[in-house]
Amino acid sequence: MENALQRHRQYIAGDFTLVDAVEEYLKRIEANKSLNAFIQVYGDEARQQAAAIDAKRAGGAKLGSLAGLFIALKDNMCMKGQRTTCGSRILDQFVSPYDATVVRKIIAEDGIIIGKTNLDEFAMGSSTENSYYGHSRNPIDPERVAGGSSGGSAVAVAAGMADLSLGSDTGGSIRQPAAFCGIVGMKPTYGRVSRYGLVAFASSLDQIGPFAKNVSDAALMLNVISGLDPNDSTSMDEMVPDYTAAVGGDVTGLTIGLPTQFFQEGLDSEIADNIKAVTKQLEDAGMTIKPVDLSLNDYAIAAYYIIATAEASSNLARYDGVRYGHRAEEVGDLNEMYTRSRSEGFGAEVKRRVMLGAHVLSSGYYDAYYKKGQQVRRLIKNQFDDAFKDVDLLLTPTTPSPAFKIGEKVDDPLQMYLSDIYTVTVNLAGICALSMPSGKTTEGLPIGLQLIAGAFQEEKLFRMAGYIENLLAE
Ligand code: GLN
Repeated sequence: MENALQRHRQYIAGDFTLVDAVEEYLKRIEANKSLNAFIQVYGDEARQQAAAIDAKRAGGAKLGSLAGLFIALKDNMCMKGQRTTCGSRILDQFVSPYDATVVRKIIAEDGIIIGKTNLDEFAMGSSTENSYYGHSRNPIDPERVAGGSSGGSAVAVAAGMADLSLGSDTGGSIRQPAAFCGIVGMKPTYGRVSRYGLVAFASSLDQIGPFAKNVSDAALMLNVISGLDPNDSTSMDEMVPDYTAAVGGDVTGLTIGLPTQFFQEGLDSEIADNIKAVTKQLEDAGMTIKPVDLSLNDYAIAAYYIIATAEASSNLARYDGVRYGHRAEEVGDLNEMYTRSRSEGFGAEVKRRVMLGAHVLSSGYYDAYYKKGQQVRRLIKNQFDDAFKDVDLLLTPTTPSPAFKIGEKVDDPLQMYLSDIYTVTVNLAGICALSMPSGKTTEGLPIGLQLIAGAFQEEKLFRMAGYIENLLAE
């Protein structure tokens, strides 16, 4: 199947109509129903938009950069008049009163949003097994997880049900499912993409980013969604370079760091060998590669799960059965209404996090946990800053193991949390990273290679990722 940029160009050239294409995509969604990628499919709306964009083309109007393409959205992003469930019972019937900024931008570029995808409840998880709507399946091996929390968005692209999709990454939720499903996924710098209309999990870590079949397509999508937004005070007024132009750009002189701590115990040996082999190829091609010390990675998971749960417990306080979402019936008084609405509406992982978060923020423990977590976060950020004085990019595995079996880790939250060991520090430091396919294990499971760059250095990521993509295709 073609890639998104090719499809877009073919559409502009008049090679196909969207009215035909929409039926193909809807058929593919139907045929892949067992993968459980979508929570909602917008067939009628997509058909109407398809006809409208075809008419626009026929009338000779200038078309947007996503014309000809179908896009899937993680179901924690708001689209006016549609449900936004966050994979939770508590928001099962919630209808968004407005569009997220990313949605507005996609529509303005003539992209068609074909549906909203499955996720771990409130984006809390690493396998999409924590969804109220059931788990997604990995298209490469349906007995395995798709990764999470943006599992549905990864599956939608990997199985050709959408040309591009969006996920959100708080600790790895775009990069890890991209790695598990054999596609490209990127987490932009904090502030690069507006979070307006993204339901908050951990506000200081969350960032929306693209999934795509290849590096250029991810760049295309990032071009569309990036930039300052007056509705999000944490979005930044930084120049947005043309990321698609960066792909294929010159990489001479760029140096790559290999964080020693990312290649130690716990890493699957086939993944280690694969990443080392790619590194060797880069070295043979004349690239400078150096070891880098990121010793504080040992504290990454602990710091992340303190900060993320603290913010989550505060963000999720709004689901009280009063203003929106599920409300328990036949309650005696207000307190019982709060308690039962939340008890019925939230799943086990969300409850675990709300309790953990409330605990680390409680007055007696604040200094020992939350404050300490924030201090460690600062040190982690400093360590990255130091590393980037020496090297341009870091190269690591995305995950310690390939996609695991459905059910394998659900009863062991700590094991589940460890699958984010190579991704969470990027969120803590607010920098950017991309996961791209790097071959397969002997069992045929995709391996993800992660590139990390400093704040607002996405352009560099795309340059290097484009180069590695070519190198691996040879
Ligand atoms: N798996 C991590 C968690 O459960 C990251 C989730 C995410 O990035 N949304 O918190």
